[in-house]
Amino acid sequence: MQAITKNFFLFLSNNKTLDRLAKQYGTRFGVDKLVGGETFSQAVPVIRQLNDEGLVVTVDHLGEFVDSEEEAKERAGEAVETVQAMFDHNLACEMSVKLTSLGLDISRELVIRNMERILDKAQALGITLQIDMEDSGRCQATIDVFKELRAKYPNVGLVIQSYLYRSDRDLDELDKYDPYVRLVKGAYKEPGTVAFQDKDMVDKNLKQLVKKHMLNGNYTAVGSHDEEVINFTKELAREHGISKDRFEFQMLYGMRNKLQHDLAKEGYTVRVYMPYGMEWYGYYMRRLAERPANIAFAVKGIFSR
Ligand SMILES: Cc1cc2nc3c(=O)[nH]c(=O)nc-3n(C[C@H](O)[C@H](O)[C@H](O)COP(=O)(O)OP(=O)(O)OC[C@H]3O[C@@H](n4cnc5c(N)ncnc54)[C@H](O)[C@@H]3O)c2cc1C
Repeated sequence: MQAITKNFFLFLSNNKTLDRLAKQYGTRFGVDKLVGGETFSQAVPVIRQLNDEGLVVTVDHLGEFVDSEEEAKERAGEAVETVQAMFDHNLACEMSVKLTSLGLDISRELVIRNMERILDKAQALGITLQIDMEDSGRCQATIDVFKELRAKYPNVGLVIQSYLYRSDRDLDELDKYDPYVRLVKGAYKEPGTVAFQDKDMVDKNLKQLVKKHMLNGNYTAVGSHDEEVINFTKELAREHGISKDRFEFQMLYGMRNKLQHDLAKEGYTVRVYMPYGMEWYGYYMRRLAERPANIAFAVKGIFSR
């Protein structure tokens, strides 16, 4: 039954007509429980509220692939403006970016130029950028871009996924860059040639990667809602005397709110990953597919307006 529901919402996530209709009718159906708003301005009060509650934030402007150099440049320009707005509003907030939205598939030179534009501004304002990891076909290119940028900018981080066989080697290789890494399980559908198919292996590998990265002395973000992984991290830090300012927990906006607040009250840094933008439809449907319990938000949204 769960598989049918999942496939149904994944099917809806790719439906162009529904995407168009959804944009027309705005962020109803409980979307605001999972998305900060359609514009960064709409997200500002939501971020401020989270900051007031002791949580820090990273924002993600929804939308992945761009078709042209112009579009990629436009996205970079928007990111520069968003970084400036974060500073102007004095928000405790970072930015997460997907390299495909900045031209990764068009040319390396383009994506580097766009990232440098954003990073120059972010560095001047003391703001950090974290590069999300996309599908395995883009993993090497993403790591290569990160390495090139990291040689110039201290304020750039990266994501590594525990479902990929290669990730342990990647962490070893990245160690010399003293990298800020978000460790996650991985969200894309990947074949057995490159990724563990068994969830237990993915979970176990995430713990191993967290251990390796933290014991190497690198700042670590654990991007997971899994309490077993979170408790493992807390225990590891206690056991090895790693202070709370050397790692953080990251969770998606609207997911496990109580756990987010409980961890913050215990003195851990908790960063909420908040997507915003017009392209919320696909993101929202993928979250419904991942966790049918979220459907309750949608039903409530329909009947409360
Ligand atoms: C901040 C952040 C950034 C991310 N960035 C990337 C990225 O750049 N690239 C990428 O590929 N993936 C990314 N992901 C997605 C990630 O790879 C996983 O697909 C996603 O987080 C699900 O795995 P999980 O570790 O949260 O736990 P799961 O394996 O999905 O769940 C483990 C357990 O956690 C509990 N749980 C999980 N969710 C909930 C919930 N909503 N309510 C109650 N209990 C729950 C349940 O007990 C569940 O059994 C990111 C995730 C986060 C949190």
